[in-house]
Amino acid sequence: SLSDRLTGALKDLRGKGRLSDADIDRTCREIRLALLEADVSLPVVRAFISRIKERAKGQEVSAALNPAQTVVKIVNEELIGILGGETRRIQFAKNPPTIIMLAGLQGAGKTTLAGKLGHWLKKQGHTPLLVACDLQRPGAVQQLQIVGERAEVPVFAPHPGTGVGGEGELGVTAGDPVSVAKAGVEEAKAKLYDVVIIDTAGRLGIDAELMKQASDIRDATQPDEVLFVVDAMIGQDAVTTAEAFAEGVDFTGVVLTKLDGDARGGAALSVREVTGRPIMFASSGEKLDDFDVFHPDRMASRILGMGDVLSLIEQAEQHWDAQQAEAAATKITQGELTLEDFLEQMLMIRKMGPIGNILGMLPGAGQMKDVLSQVDDKQLDRVQAIIRGMTPEERANPKIINASRRLRIANGSGVTVSEVNQLVDRFFEARKMMAAMSGRMGMGGVNRKSK
Ligand code: GDP
Ligand code: MG
Repeated sequence: SLSDRLTGALKDLRGKGRLSDADIDRTCREIRLALLEADVSLPVVRAFISRIKERAKGQEVSAALNPAQTVVKIVNEELIGILGGETRRIQFAKNPPTIIMLAGLQGAGKTTLAGKLGHWLKKQGHTPLLVACDLQRPGAVQQLQIVGERAEVPVFAPHPGTGVGGEGELGVTAGDPVSVAKAGVEEAKAKLYDVVIIDTAGRLGIDAELMKQASDIRDATQPDEVLFVVDAMIGQDAVTTAEAFAEGVDFTGVVLTKLDGDARGGAALSVREVTGRPIMFASSGEKLDDFDVFHPDRMASRILGMGDVLSLIEQAEQHWDAQQAEAAATKITQGELTLEDFLEQMLMIRKMGPIGNILGMLPGAGQMKDVLSQVDDKQLDRVQAIIRGMTPEERANPKIINASRRLRIANGSGVTVSEVNQLVDRFFEARKMMAAMSGRMGMGGVNRKSK
């Protein structure tokens, strides 16, 4: 998957103190392959890679992050950029009703979306009306009626055979979606619904008649939003389809559906970049609530597959004292951490929030939990007292802390000897574990500045 490839490419960079141009080129080749494999279109990949390269080779190496983390951060930021940056909200009409038209291929998820969107709008205090303009597929009108019932949102539909419109007595010819759409809007005006959601017909492929029908509905109703609904699972085809709809109907926003499947993320990346239209909503299941506004940052983390590691990086950037940490990182990797450093590290970790949260964000942090779980915030105060009760020499060279020193320290800091013993033991254990972890996780260069 894209996530695996990216993770693999970035793993090679871990533990490096600085990035050479060759490192960056090699990593970018991996990222390029990963993106192509995930069905991101070639021009999008090219643009993306050249931005990553430029930034990685620039003077952006952060004091708080090692080079691998810096590249993750750049890739993440560029992904968010490609995915649209800020979340784009529905633009409501100044004079209701706001008209939202759904367009897309058959099976994309338009009818399902009509229900979800109606439900979502209703929860926000709107009074939506669904309008059934898919008169092509047998059973499509009834499907929308069922969806509407479940969402508790009224549906305007032509009565089969009678030529009479659904909710009102508006003469509508059952075979003409444009008339149904217009009548639906009139119905909303008359009954003061403030949003109209027009469900339309799709075809299995792109076709001129389909586009004509959709653009006729658009011309007749002048929608405030035309949402192009696309199945995230269709990969590279999403781009072709999006381009055809952009050309044939034009749309103001994109809705990605079926994100609950193993969608490779490529569609999301390309559609936005190729059409220039924002992705506005994401659908991730068949239930009404499997729906949310689209969050570019969440999608980027999903693609990167690193979950909350990114938020950990953010926190590290905010709280880490670069110079202090730089020195500590070197000592950690060499197993030379002192008790003074140990205390400082603990205090820094404390600044980053409850220890449990941080542990949850580290990949494979199981082992470290054992050490850190013994350090709750209250205990930190005692630890601090004990370490402060030591001479500078003892703090710098804990090996010299023998039995008589332990007794003196205990008396001086108002704790028992066994507490001092515990701390010293735990310190040696932690020092060993941190050295091992830093090697394995590539945290060794965590804070080395690149000049
Ligand atoms: P339309 O032809 O564009 O109106 O598509 P439908 O709304 O009828 O959806 C086609 C199929 O996809 C239906 O079986 C839906 O239940 C299913 N579907 C729609 N959205 C999602 C989604 O986000 N996740 C999953 N798993 N299925 C979906
Ligand atoms: Mg449908």
